[in-house]
Amino acid sequence: MVGTCTALHLQQRGFEVCLVDRRRPGEETSFGNAGLIQREAVEPYPFPQDPASVANALLGRGAAVNWHARGLWQMGRPLLGYWRASRPAGHARATAAYSRLIAHAIDEHAPLIAAAGAEDLVVREGYRFVFRSAGALDAAARRAQDLQQQFGVRHTVETPEALAQAEPALRAGLAGAVRWLDPWAVRDPGALVQRYAALFVQRGGALLEGDAATLRATANGWALKTTVGTVGAAQAVLALGPWSGDAIRGLGYRFPLFVKRGYHQHYHPPALLGCPVFDAERGYVLAPMQRGLRLTTGAEFAPVDAPATPVQLARAEASARELLDLGKPADEPPWLGARPCTADMLPVIGPAPRHPGLWFNFGHAHQGFTLGPVSGLLVAQMVSGQPTVVDPAPYLPARFC
Ligand SMILES: Cc1cc2nc3c(=O)[nH]c(=O)nc-3n(C[C@H](O)[C@H](O)[C@H](O)COP(=O)(O)OP(=O)(O)OC[C@H]3O[C@@H](n4cnc5c(N)ncnc54)[C@H](O)[C@@H]3O)c2cc1C
Repeated sequence: MVGTCTALHLQQRGFEVCLVDRRRPGEETSFGNAGLIQREAVEPYPFPQDPASVANALLGRGAAVNWHARGLWQMGRPLLGYWRASRPAGHARATAAYSRLIAHAIDEHAPLIAAAGAEDLVVREGYRFVFRSAGALDAAARRAQDLQQQFGVRHTVETPEALAQAEPALRAGLAGAVRWLDPWAVRDPGALVQRYAALFVQRGGALLEGDAATLRATANGWALKTTVGTVGAAQAVLALGPWSGDAIRGLGYRFPLFVKRGYHQHYHPPALLGCPVFDAERGYVLAPMQRGLRLTTGAEFAPVDAPATPVQLARAEASARELLDLGKPADEPPWLGARPCTADMLPVIGPAPRHPGLWFNFGHAHQGFTLGPVSGLLVAQMVSGQPTVVDPAPYLPARFC
């Protein structure tokens, strides 16, 4: 999503653009997410600070968190930085910067969805956080009220009766819900990226297969090997999602990056939900998709390429079966992807500090599907020296140098 949107925005500014991927666009992380364009996500996802959540995470209890020892070892330093940055003052600072980008998420997706002819993929019914206990619902309702006042993200609080009427597929017995009114839900996230990529090609862009590991500085800029030969350009943007860390290490950068892996599995319930549901006290999402009801899991701290260990899927499935008749799982192996994260919870958008003509656009963590268009716009504006949609300062790569 991030690379494709960057290509579209550069192209729109008159650059001749070549989008290179080792696969096709929309087949990796942006394929398997929950498909939410999360206008409500004004706060980046913090490392939990309360002792009960930390204990649950460390003991690998529940569906929200799992970890591999090798992952904790490899990602120890950035994770420590993440934990520190998640303290109230740091999180408030990150929220101030994050919310400014999120504010443009819908406005920047909307024209691309229209131009790409992708309206059939989008549902505008909002996003529900459901609660099992009245205490958790009350706390979430108070927080939602604060966020609405501070950032204008609209919501309603639903009683058990209102929730039952809105989502008859859910079993009775829930305490109620917070329904965010602004988010949009995409019923096939990979297909949306593919439609954006098709728009890029239709407007004259070149889509090539190649490996970013072959990127080299040249006398005139940058060169990269592709299956149809070497391509050269005055400027290059690296937008490799969870693989960005490997690529920039090769260039001598040591940014505090890590991944939070996540799984999905589709189910075929007798009745689909009207809009995506977050089981807030258990930490997983149920999102209606064209392929069925997609269950997506929370965070797994493990190396990006380590074998799949879908224990959270099994736990989340058991919780989901308490909420509704989930039906049979689709006959497919669980999907595994990795959220590209930074220690300070902000994406990395801007010029590479020590490499003229090289730009970075990665690290969008839990909301890269949401933020692709506005991040692409921001990079394209910086590359072309135009005024920017938001002040880029908080996201600049130089903050880690
Ligand atoms: C379970 C789960 C649920 C999520 N739900 C949501 C959600 O509802 N809403 C939301 O906004 N976000 C969500 N996210 C986060 C979101 O999916 C990611 O932040 C986003 O997809 C990242 O996009 P990207 O373009 O940076 O990375 P990717 O989509 O992974 O794209 C990176 C691209 O780089 C290519 N590439 C990698 N290495 C090389 C190389 N060496 N050479 C050439 N090409 C290369 C890959 O092939 C790929 O096409 C979720 C994530 C997970 C795991």
